[in-house]
Amino acid sequence: MNVAVVGTGYVGLVVGAGLAEMGNSVICADVDRGKIERLRRNEIPIYEPGLEPLVARNQADGRLVFTTDVGDAVDKSDIILIAVGTPPDEDGSADLTHVLDVATTIGRHMNRSKVVVTKSTVPVGTAEKVRAAVAAHSTVPFSVASNPEFLKEGAAVEDFMKPDRIIAGVDSPEAEAALRELYEPFVRTGNPVLFMGIPSAEVTKYAANAMLAARITLMNQFANLCEKVGADVNDVRRGIGTDGRIGKGFLFPGPGYGGSCFPKDVKALCATGRAAGSPLEVLECVESVNERQKRVPVAKLRRILGSLEGKTVAIWGLAFKAQTDDMREAASLVVVEELLQAGVTLKVHDPKALGEARRRFGDRVTYAEQRYDALVGADALAILTEWQEYRVLDYDRAKSVMRRPVVIDARNLYEPERMAQHGFSYDSIGRP
Ligand code: NAD
Repeated sequence: MNVAVVGTGYVGLVVGAGLAEMGNSVICADVDRGKIERLRRNEIPIYEPGLEPLVARNQADGRLVFTTDVGDAVDKSDIILIAVGTPPDEDGSADLTHVLDVATTIGRHMNRSKVVVTKSTVPVGTAEKVRAAVAAHSTVPFSVASNPEFLKEGAAVEDFMKPDRIIAGVDSPEAEAALRELYEPFVRTGNPVLFMGIPSAEVTKYAANAMLAARITLMNQFANLCEKVGADVNDVRRGIGTDGRIGKGFLFPGPGYGGSCFPKDVKALCATGRAAGSPLEVLECVESVNERQKRVPVAKLRRILGSLEGKTVAIWGLAFKAQTDDMREAASLVVVEELLQAGVTLKVHDPKALGEARRRFGDRVTYAEQRYDALVGADALAILTEWQEYRVLDYDRAKSVMRRPVVIDARNLYEPERMAQHGFSYDSIGRP
């Protein structure tokens, strides 16, 4: 099929490359000229495992083309996937400016009947706004559809190529046929393409993210309770995770969820609920409790070190989770700012996010290319991201370079008893 993907960020780039891999002719369009020039040279602007060879192979074979000319991409395509950003507005609702800009361009280039699909995460009712924006500039008949994306950063290629399910919100046979054909190659193992009404598809995406965000937040609250009452959240996690109704996934406590999706999607769904006269009280709490959780590592540092003024702290992990360089809404942003304000000297390490960190923190922190270099002269280490390379600690090496053997582990990577045996003051999340 001839496909245009508009927006080549974390989602659009993976989607475009994945669709090309299955044999479609894909034009990826973005207004960011620098990004498109880099992509034409097969330089991937983000860290995403497996993405580079996919882009290079499909670009070399001519199935994947990058352009800044959104109109031209629309002209040449039968199906257009809108995958631009939907950042939060001042009141938390999703800002649809980019989505509707693209819809206007699509309307101006509707040279034959096409299917216009929102892949971005957008509030219920957006497909109708897209339909109106396209129709304002075109008399050619067209269809709209909602096809939210569920890929996870860090496993985006794998998730897109082998989805658990595809959600397809449609209200016309043309859109249904187009999405069925587009996704057939991805669901050969039998995972479903779930067709439903457009509003249901739009709500499904937010409901999934809200459910996961709430689950993480509840686990974080259980962890905080465990600390107060002498319980171990690890045991509680295993105890409830083996209940078939609950399941094992997404039960690890930590320093609060971050990333480009959960925080903004929870806010946007809350805004939708308020506007619809059906407020989501539970979710409103999730949001504020999560913000509080991001401050837990600093509180723990204060408890062990006393005054933080003049102290040196090493941070391992800046990305909002492992396997990505994305720092949007990461706990590290809150922790770094709070520690800097308290007069702490910071030495930070992350396997992939140091470039992004330099853009955000500038020369206010010191960057360590090797993780043990960050520990030199440190009064404490705070671990914020669950990178695999952090899972094994060289106790003697760490102790020999740190000023004080203090570790605050917000990802519960180490065994408390073993850390004590090796002479560390160690605190984690929800464990004695
Ligand atoms: P992103 O910020 O990485 O990328 C968005 C891209 O859109 C940017 O490259 C930007 O230059 C481009 N863009 C903006 N306006 C444009 C325009 N008018 N025309 C062409 N290009 C334009 O965003 P993302 O993380 O890829 O997210 C995109 C959407 O997908 C959001 O709605 C997000 O909520 C949703 N989503 C994201 C993820 C994720 O893990 N990042 C997962 C599922 C869904």
